[in-house]
Amino acid sequence: MTTETVAREAGRDFIRDIVQADLDSGQHKTIVTRFPPEPNGYLHIGHAKSIALNFGIAEEFSGRCHLRFDDTNPTREEQEYIDSIQADVRWLGFDWGNNLFFASDYFERLYEWAEGLILNGLAYVDDQSQDEIRASRGTLTEPGQNSPFRDRSVEENLDLFRRMKAGEFPNGARVLRAKIDMSAGNINLRDPVLYRILHAHHPRTGDTWSIYPSYDYAHGQSDAIEGITHSICTLEFEDHRPLYDWFLDKLPVPSHPHQYEFARLNLTYTLLSKRVLTRLVQDGHVSGWDDPRMPTIAGLKRRGVPPAAIREFVRRIGVAKANSVVDVGMLEFCIREELNRTAPRRMAVLRPLKVVIENYPERQSEEIEAINHPDDPAAGTRKIAFGRELFVEQDDFMENPPKKFFRLSPGSEVRLRYAYFIKCREAVKNAAGEVVELRCTYDPATRGGNAPDGRKVKATLHWLPAAQSKVAEIRVYNQLFASPSPDAGNFAADLNPQSLEVLKDARVEPSLAESNFDTAVQFERQGYFVRDPDSTADGLVFNRTIGLRDSFAKEVAKG
Ligand code: ATP
Ligand code: MG
Repeated sequence: MTTETVAREAGRDFIRDIVQADLDSGQHKTIVTRFPPEPNGYLHIGHAKSIALNFGIAEEFSGRCHLRFDDTNPTREEQEYIDSIQADVRWLGFDWGNNLFFASDYFERLYEWAEGLILNGLAYVDDQSQDEIRASRGTLTEPGQNSPFRDRSVEENLDLFRRMKAGEFPNGARVLRAKIDMSAGNINLRDPVLYRILHAHHPRTGDTWSIYPSYDYAHGQSDAIEGITHSICTLEFEDHRPLYDWFLDKLPVPSHPHQYEFARLNLTYTLLSKRVLTRLVQDGHVSGWDDPRMPTIAGLKRRGVPPAAIREFVRRIGVAKANSVVDVGMLEFCIREELNRTAPRRMAVLRPLKVVIENYPERQSEEIEAINHPDDPAAGTRKIAFGRELFVEQDDFMENPPKKFFRLSPGSEVRLRYAYFIKCREAVKNAAGEVVELRCTYDPATRGGNAPDGRKVKATLHWLPAAQSKVAEIRVYNQLFASPSPDAGNFAADLNPQSLEVLKDARVEPSLAESNFDTAVQFERQGYFVRDPDSTADGLVFNRTIGLRDSFAKEVAKG
């Protein structure tokens, strides 16, 4: 990003204030942050908030931000996720330079430090089952109980831990726990698990390890190894901070980072839990992680949302210490703002109705000039063929219109955008009584869309030539969930049955098939659309990014 963009996006918040103070006091010379995804799913818009915060701070304060994969649980992690996360962070406009790291790079060191804790009497091997450990942990009001294995000798602990590492025991047979305090008020300090036995293939370390560190044990130490100054995470880790600090105090780490917590992003009509997103994909409720209805970065991208709109959205919502729910309308507003400014204009007819201009000569056609962006003359113009047979939108015709309907009806006159005035003479119906064609006349004197005699029309319609336009499938998306606060526990019940409407016979300008439109365009009067990768040479597919106006909010308001 340019320095200008960086400056514009540099809002202030409590974390940036802390960073500034730490620079001013000389506590740190260089700020180092990190974004630490677990590669067990695709990134979503909530992660974008964290990415923009961590990379944004590094950029604004001339520091650096590491991309570190928190790959400590091989049963849920996959290379596909590692690859998609990198692609998505880049697409959002952020750059980790050479600072790509994996917690698994530190497995050897973390292991040695764990042996060190054992030697210092600060960790022990527990033979209790997971259930037994959970049952003896106590509650918020009751202290936990010491494990019967808590007072094993250093020698026995070391021997058992080494045999755990050597793969001698089955999954779940034993764990390594920190020896802290089973009556601590903070449950995270009641002898937390550091290592569990897991005979699983790891995407990076293969079959080297049969024990894997817990999140709590790996995270802070990875921060310390990398010299992270400000370890920024979401509020649910606030209660883990004493444990984060305990490890750093007890281990011979090269630095002592500080953890700061901010409120995670929640959005109306949206679930951002990876567990739910994984289920949506696995149970076939969506076509994949990049289904345009998904709140994933890949989904938003495929839907045609520009990365600048996402950056602007997270800038506007800011960074706070209290959890809240942001109206999804705010995200939509940012998408419309960005696309209105940048998207080229084109014409498309979503539900075509044939128009025959009776007084236009057969086998003749002419080129009409259309402008590409009303606010940007540099975007230039393009030519659209006009002839005797055209398409207009079915909604733009009514046989018996109410008073305020100014579009096409028998006897009415309208403007076809950039072209001519046309007047409707007659609607032709099929055997079922449906209107299948309009017979119209045009006024050759109104070329360009104005009448020399000064007469006015009250409607301007978009249109396309019948012969020269291309058939396209258009996928119109609505909210994936019908409820403003979907239930994560029973999300299937809250799915919106109308989240996808497919229009098979839409028409688009031929230029949309030829040029490389992987960014959204505005279909005049309809909204923003982007070509979908499902498109083939003879089968164009477009996704609706978003409508022009916020019709959804209005519907909701009307109830
Ligand atoms: P899980 O649901 O598996 O805990 P997660 O969404 O926390 O997943 P991580 O891969 O651990 O996934 O997230 C990486 C980083 O993104 C973490 O620092 C986390 O705090 C942050 N993050 C995750 N969700 C949000 C959110 N909704 N808003 C802001 N930050 C988030
Ligand atoms: Mg997490």
